[in-house]
Amino acid sequence: MPYLILDRDGVINEDSDAFIKCPEEWIPIPGSLEAIARLTERGYRVVVLTNQSGLARGLLDEETLRCIHAKMIAAVEAVGGRIEAIFHCPHGPEDSCECRKPKSGLFRAFAERYSVDLAGIPAIGDSFRDLQAAKAVGASPILVETGKGRRTLAHHPDLDIPVFANLYEAAQHILYCHA
Ligand SMILES: [Mg+2]
Ligand SMILES: [Zn+2]
Repeated sequence: MPYLILDRDGVINEDSDAFIKCPEEWIPIPGSLEAIARLTERGYRVVVLTNQSGLARGLLDEETLRCIHAKMIAAVEAVGGRIEAIFHCPHGPEDSCECRKPKSGLFRAFAERYSVDLAGIPAIGDSFRDLQAAKAVGASPILVETGKGRRTLAHHPDLDIPVFANLYEAAQHILYCHA
């Protein structure tokens, strides 16, 4: 079964500089749920790896994050998709942890738990640090222009990786061009 790695904020749901602090603030990007559903139908196992420094900043707690993820999982399942697992980093930039992207601890935790070889696994993100973390473990980074994606592209115009308008377009590419 092929795996596919997704960042959360700015890829699946609308990003916010004020953080996603409660289920009400979790708003799917148009087409993202359907993209996950198409990937699921075609046998992809979708795993979400997400920095959630709002926890370290005291903007939400683990229980609220669980509720946000329950909403996300339900929204995905409502259209026929499935999220296999979610790994999050609860730390802030000052915590010097190994899991906050651009560090690759979330990728390694996933690989270990699921006994997966990360080499070549598509990893879709909107921030440069998503791409760095993916690259560091040999996954195949893909940039979407939603969320911080356009900013990422403007700051790194020479990125030598695939870029798509959004998750739906990226999924179409993976499903039909990425045998
Ligand atoms: Mg993001
Ligand atoms: Zn961390």
